[in-house]
Amino acid sequence: MRFNLLNGFIYQRFFPECKLMLYFMNSTAKLLERRAMIVKMLVVGPFASNCYIVGSSSTKEGMIIDPGAEAGTILRTVQQTGLSISLIVVTHAHIDHVGALRSVQEKTNAEFALHEAEKGLLLTAPMRMLTSLGLSPIKSPPQPDRLLKDGDSIEIGDLHFEVLHTPGHSSGGISLSGHGVVFSGDTLFNFGIGRTDFPGCSHERLMKSIREKLMVLPDETIVYPGHGPLTTIGDERRGNPFLR
Ligand SMILES: [Zn+2]
Ligand SMILES: [Zn+2]
Repeated sequence: MRFNLLNGFIYQRFFPECKLMLYFMNSTAKLLERRAMIVKMLVVGPFASNCYIVGSSSTKEGMIIDPGAEAGTILRTVQQTGLSISLIVVTHAHIDHVGALRSVQEKTNAEFALHEAEKGLLLTAPMRMLTSLGLSPIKSPPQPDRLLKDGDSIEIGDLHFEVLHTPGHSSGGISLSGHGVVFSGDTLFNFGIGRTDFPGCSHERLMKSIREKLMVLPDETIVYPGHGPLTTIGDERRGNPFLR
């Protein structure tokens, strides 16, 4: 893993979505095989968002989590994995997680799902953020095909994930847990937590989400966050300065 000063600078200067003690990033995609699961992590767009392509190596079905930008890169990577994408899930509706959503959905014909409490933000939050940052508009996100709530299960081939409602950074923020990993969106980062100074955010709700939904997972659970490098629940339990 190498320190990427430029991306770290851009990230912290223009869209510091999380509070980080350290910021390391590997800008190349990483292919990780865990049991029968493929997890491919891509760092996309000006906000250095983590987009995940997740699928079953036996059934070859897959999903995309947080197509934040760079639809072409995401689609090329999907092709390399040989996965057939049946679902796109966004952990929340901020622009850096939905920027390539419409383009990726148009090409994959996959269903799009997000938490029911995030639906209202889908039309307003991305555009408002772009305008405030002086960036050009994106294709507006599509309407969801499926609305998720806490405890729902997501089936991708022979993989099963549980939807954990983890509000705080965003009211409809979710994490996806299964097969020894959790995709934590902008709720929990490597030695960091999500920002809570946007409208609709709540530090108390975020801390409650982290403690009651994420910190109850086993220590060895791998955390795939919405930005920055991977971590584990155990490492965060022991070392995350915001959880003391
Ligand atoms: Zn966010
Ligand atoms: Zn983000």
